[in-house]
Amino acid sequence: MSLSVPVSFEFFPPRTEAGYEKLLEEHAALKAVNPEFFSVTYGAGGSTQERTIQTVIELNQRGVPSAPHLSCIGTTEATVIELLNRYRDAGIRRIVALRGDLPSGMGGTGGDFRYASDLVRFIRAHYSDTFQLEVAAYPEMHPQAPNFDTDIGNFITKAKAGADRAITQYFYNADAYRHFVKQVRQRGCDIDIVPGIMPITNVSSLIRFSDACGADIPRWLRKQLEACGDDSQRITAIGQEVVTILCRELLDSGAPGLHFYTLNRAEPALAILDQLS
Ligand code: FAD
Repeated sequence: MSLSVPVSFEFFPPRTEAGYEKLLEEHAALKAVNPEFFSVTYGAGGSTQERTIQTVIELNQRGVPSAPHLSCIGTTEATVIELLNRYRDAGIRRIVALRGDLPSGMGGTGGDFRYASDLVRFIRAHYSDTFQLEVAAYPEMHPQAPNFDTDIGNFITKAKAGADRAITQYFYNADAYRHFVKQVRQRGCDIDIVPGIMPITNVSSLIRFSDACGADIPRWLRKQLEACGDDSQRITAIGQEVVTILCRELLDSGAPGLHFYTLNRAEPALAILDQLS
């Protein structure tokens, strides 16, 4: 199975030993499609940070490069330096640089960084080109941005601070991606913008998560999925068809890669890639 563009896969750090063993199985299955890299999420201000560090360093030793997500909100420059030294010394060469969101109840921003662009600038200043830097992009606008235009301007500032590439929030409307890329290009920014792809497997959690992160599930899709009730086979079949068509449209529009939000499951992404190739 091979595509003409690179693919990458995102995991979250497992909470238990059993979850970690399962992740290794999913990692092995996904390795079979020669991904460019795996990434591992990181909770801003959360208790899972050490698990991210351990997971990403261990996965990085298993034949395919791994990249930690690194969120800067609420953290200090000294902590970031300590973490990046650890990653550099472990042979990590790619970072997904983010602002992140503090868990509710943790108060204001605090820390030495306000936006992801501050983190990108800081990493470039202290580590030059040691790390390839990926940043986040929002074709349907970041939920806290006052308007689309301002959000695009902030994205371009982040790119110019030294980002190599962007990965988008997931979406189910290819036009949103095309419009976003066009606006960014019209404003003179040419970094690659890789669409983030969320396979559809569980409707209620997808709806809950999409509401929280500002990703739109189009009415035609939401209605079809809701009509499936508890029929998980039907949900998987519809999801696979819809997301495969979305990926094909994105690739036809020139998307330079695909980044899958796997939720630590190989099969949904592999099924889509199989259909695509
Ligand atoms: P920023 O780029 O800093 O943008 C955040 C907001 O600030 C936007 O509204 C932007 O318009 C605005 N802004 C930016 N610069 C300025 C400025 N100079 N002046 C005024 N406003 C400005 N979250 C996690 O906690 N852990 C993860 O592992 C994680 N992984 C992610 C991976 C991807 C690919 C994506 C798309 C998101 C991920 N997130 C993760 C979610 C992300 O942390 C949140 O969406 C967060 O709210 C914004 O992070 P950011 O890096 O996009 O922030």
